[in-house]
Amino acid sequence: MGTGDREQAYTRARQEAERLTADGIQGIVLTWVDNAGLTRVKSVPSARLPHAARRGVGMSPVFDVYLVDDSMTTSRHIGGPDGDLRLFPDLDRLTPLTAQPGWAWAPADRYAQSGVDHPACQRLFAQRMTERARQRGLTVRMGFETEWVVTEGEPAQDTPRYPTAGPAYGMARVVDLSDYLAGLLDALRVQRVEVFQLHPEYSPGQFEVSVAPADPVGAADLAVLVRETIRAHSTRSGLAPLFGPVVEAGGVGNGRHLHLSLWQGARNLCRDGDGPHGMTATSEAFLAGVLRELPALLAIGAPSPASYLRLEPSRWAGAYQCWGLENREAALRFITGAPDDPGGANAEIKCFDPAANPYLVVGAVIAAGLAGLDSGLTLPLPVSGDPAVEGRERRLPTSLLTALEHFEDSMVLREALGDPLFESIAAVRRAEAALFEKATPQEIAAATRGRY
Ligand code: GLU
Ligand code: MG
Repeated sequence: MGTGDREQAYTRARQEAERLTADGIQGIVLTWVDNAGLTRVKSVPSARLPHAARRGVGMSPVFDVYLVDDSMTTSRHIGGPDGDLRLFPDLDRLTPLTAQPGWAWAPADRYAQSGVDHPACQRLFAQRMTERARQRGLTVRMGFETEWVVTEGEPAQDTPRYPTAGPAYGMARVVDLSDYLAGLLDALRVQRVEVFQLHPEYSPGQFEVSVAPADPVGAADLAVLVRETIRAHSTRSGLAPLFGPVVEAGGVGNGRHLHLSLWQGARNLCRDGDGPHGMTATSEAFLAGVLRELPALLAIGAPSPASYLRLEPSRWAGAYQCWGLENREAALRFITGAPDDPGGANAEIKCFDPAANPYLVVGAVIAAGLAGLDSGLTLPLPVSGDPAVEGRERRLPTSLLTALEHFEDSMVLREALGDPLFESIAAVRRAEAALFEKATPQEIAAATRGRY
């Protein structure tokens, strides 16, 4: 970002700050998501927003090697007490937080003191990959689904208590939590988040909200905003929301599936083509690239030891490296949509979960897809039915350390992420695997479910 841009941002932030102050907003939270998948913040009083837009807000690079329990590891390029970065709010996303009266939110990009990009900034990485796609004439539309479990009391207590005993997908759950859910819809609407659906999910106390697709960075920003809105609204309602990959070991977990479609101008490349189920050659090669890279991508999209307690066959988590038309057990589910809905055709990556950093997810998926285009890949035959029953498909990694091996062997991801970011991610994965090496599944679930 040049000096001129910063001066422009300063002028704009002054107007925004005045408006926010007049509306009773006291503070702005600037968020970034660390490599462990936790959203961290610095906040400034509203009057200080212009300064933050011009000079940034200081933070230590050591956050790049934080773990889920707030302990720290170190990595080849990043780690230790030295250095300072500047967080710059994205003013285009500045949003007053309905469920946190007095507060507004903006996601932040991280730069070095000198003004150059911080090489391990996950949001800048997502922007770079979006730009790579754009240089090839491709626009990527993405959207995350948010699943969470509502509980009462302490997240780490032995047995979670649920505020509803209603059945999976049951109307009883919506009745039991009627005010809570209506309040959530209202908070999202006021924040101009376009909600597509809200429904009870399979697990006890579990719900899901899905929102309209956006550009990749926008989709990741929305994932943060939606989660923090659910968190704040739940807290105000006296409830504890759990976003961990599993709440109870052995049960169905929380996914954070990613939907994506590829566009050239106004044309959705996931339909009206000659490939399987109407894909164009471009979208087929892109999806084949994603499918090929999935074992390594898991180190990004399923980043916690808890992720592998969720990623089990026959739980709709997508535990097999295959694709299928509307197949909810395939890691890659293709959706044709209605013939008269140009935006309907898309693919869903199901094996990812809410412990993942959404900026890393969108950037890494684009990198894998573009590599598929470079190699002119085609998709294997689609799979129908439960791959666990058929027994022919390749199981995705069953542990974080196995996913990490694939990640460390992935030239595609290493090149795309760049060494400092790549190495800090690998270090965090290795350290979290070690952290829980001796823990039982139930201990892993209890230690992680309330952290994200
Ligand atoms: N909760 C499931 C998961 O862990 C997904 C259920 C669904 O398909 O919506 O991904
Ligand atoms: Mg779901």
